[in-house]
Amino acid sequence: MVPEVAAVHHGKVVRPCGGCTVCCDVLPVEALNKGLHERCPHAVDGVGCSIYGEYFEICKTYRCVWTLGHGSEEDRPDLSGVLVDCRQVRGGERGIYALQVDHEKNIQGTLQRIADDVGAPVQLLDEEMEPRQTSTSPTTKR
Ligand code: SF4
Ligand code: SF4
Repeated sequence: MVPEVAAVHHGKVVRPCGGCTVCCDVLPVEALNKGLHERCPHAVDGVGCSIYGEYFEICKTYRCVWTLGHGSEEDRPDLSGVLVDCRQVRGGERGIYALQVDHEKNIQGTLQRIADDVGAPVQLLDEEMEPRQTSTSPTTKR
């Protein structure tokens, strides 16, 4: 794992999710029998998790990179239309990956801000969470 990605992986949460529920809308949760792109029944728009504190381990440990302080306020996933996290994809290294959740939005500014902030490329995922060839490289170093 490159040092920049390791720093994100071990990063601490510095921002509350607020009313965002994007990860609850798209990521699988085995304990809930919830598949990819299925909305959690406990998610409440503009509020968050209705069973906050009594939910599942994966919900307690999952952090998108925005909650770790990367990107601007406008890059919160429900506002920007893209969910960016640090993950290990099948057959690949741990890295910074982005899933576009709102195809009406132009996500390039968010990807660039996060790549610059982290100092590592952000690679796009397809709908099945497989890496695409497209990635955004940092233009600046910290
Ligand atoms: S996508 Fe990020 S900001 Fe939104 S609910 Fe999930 S962890 Fe919180
Ligand atoms: S239980 Fe709560 S935190 Fe977990 S996916 Fe559902 S709404 Fe999100």
